[in-house]
Amino acid sequence: MPEVRLRFAPSPTGYLHVGGARTALFNWLLARKEGGKFILRIEDTDVARSTQESVDAILDGMRWLGLDWDEGPFYQSDNFPLYKEFVEKLLAAGKAYKCYCTAEELESKRERALQEGRKPKYDGTCRELTGEQAGKPYVVRFRAPQDGVTGFDDLIKGRIAFNNEELDDLIIQRSDGTPTYNFVVVIDDATMGITTVIRGDDHVNNTPRQILLYEALGYPVPHFAHVPMILGADKTRLSKRHGATSVMAYRDMGFLPEAMVNYLVRLGWSYGDEEIFSRDDLVEKFSIENVGRSAGVFNPDKLLWLNAHYIKNGDPVRLAGLLVPFLAERGVDPATGPDLVAVVKTLQERARTMLELADGAVFYYRREFDYDEQAAAKFLKPEVAPLYEALLAKLAALSSFSHDGIEAAFKALCEEQVIKMGQIGPPVRIALCGGTTSPSIYEVMEVLGAAETQRRLERALTKLRG
Ligand code: GLU
Repeated sequence: MPEVRLRFAPSPTGYLHVGGARTALFNWLLARKEGGKFILRIEDTDVARSTQESVDAILDGMRWLGLDWDEGPFYQSDNFPLYKEFVEKLLAAGKAYKCYCTAEELESKRERALQEGRKPKYDGTCRELTGEQAGKPYVVRFRAPQDGVTGFDDLIKGRIAFNNEELDDLIIQRSDGTPTYNFVVVIDDATMGITTVIRGDDHVNNTPRQILLYEALGYPVPHFAHVPMILGADKTRLSKRHGATSVMAYRDMGFLPEAMVNYLVRLGWSYGDEEIFSRDDLVEKFSIENVGRSAGVFNPDKLLWLNAHYIKNGDPVRLAGLLVPFLAERGVDPATGPDLVAVVKTLQERARTMLELADGAVFYYRREFDYDEQAAAKFLKPEVAPLYEALLAKLAALSSFSHDGIEAAFKALCEEQVIKMGQIGPPVRIALCGGTTSPSIYEVMEVLGAAETQRRLERALTKLRG
């Protein structure tokens, strides 16, 4: 069996879009599953629209998702001499020809065709020209067959066929000497030995033209798999109107790459009714046959659900590392307070995003903070003062300031004072965290440590006494 070779071929005209990321992921997965190669090719022949910034953004997005490539990045802009060579080859073989029709001539023919109810198509004026028209600008056109059918078995969509009659004699080189998109894609895929092309289904109409070029050049035609597009909830093509479409925006909104990968793969691919897939699972289970024919609908709630799953089950050491920049945005340097890994362990059960994790962690590191007004009005009553004092005494007597010891102290306090946990819990929570929602207070106290717990309780007591 020849080696399976796949590629992702983004045009660097913007960031890595979720649709592009999914295409990259499908290619990557198939390459990894088949033990083949995954190649990255930057399609930057449109010099006016391509930027280095976009290249960097795309590479960042791929690295963040963990889609490592085996070859490349190759840049089409480095390949102009190669494209030129192939144009010459086709010209020499009579499989391409120079067309001297001017833009105005073509436009008026187009208009006439439209007026007469015909589909506009190049009329072949220069097809049979012999001899050069020296000094006159020209484009190079591919001499496409004028009858017959060009078809292919799409690995996702099934048989797709076009009447050659419908296809124009494609321009492969513009009058300024630059090659055109459909041509360079074929030269690259052919010379890079790409065996399967997985790409968005907005390219279906390009495929027959490309197949004819493979045939004319004598290269084997790869398999094609055209992935249906991604829609927003209103069933229109996913766009900024539906929310963020840049993969890196999701990182900034606190999503984990494994959640994003899991989410993206399921936007089109399924495996029974399973939802959670590790990267290894995916490499083992992924197949093009299980990519659906209908468009996937982007569902932010499901992404959030998956993210919550991965945070909850994530390695706290890794999460702590990822959390640092989010804390920095909140003016928090975790070196100034309790161990961040211990902090994460108290919060990861409930946080759905890294932003929620960061928001939840801030109170551990703030020495001064305001109490939530409503909660304070409700729970910080004068009768709480003796309870704080009794608690401080109990905590001071603990031999080990651990979760279980702290819990036992609270139990004993409730018995002695004949109160319920509901009477002491909320005011203590306010003293420690500023509000009434937080992880378990035993956990919070253990993580804050004896001295800081004491300081926060005394601070609340002082405020209470006003
Ligand atoms: N550069 C094209 C795009 O970004 C992809 C072409 C291809 O995959 O064949 O849409």
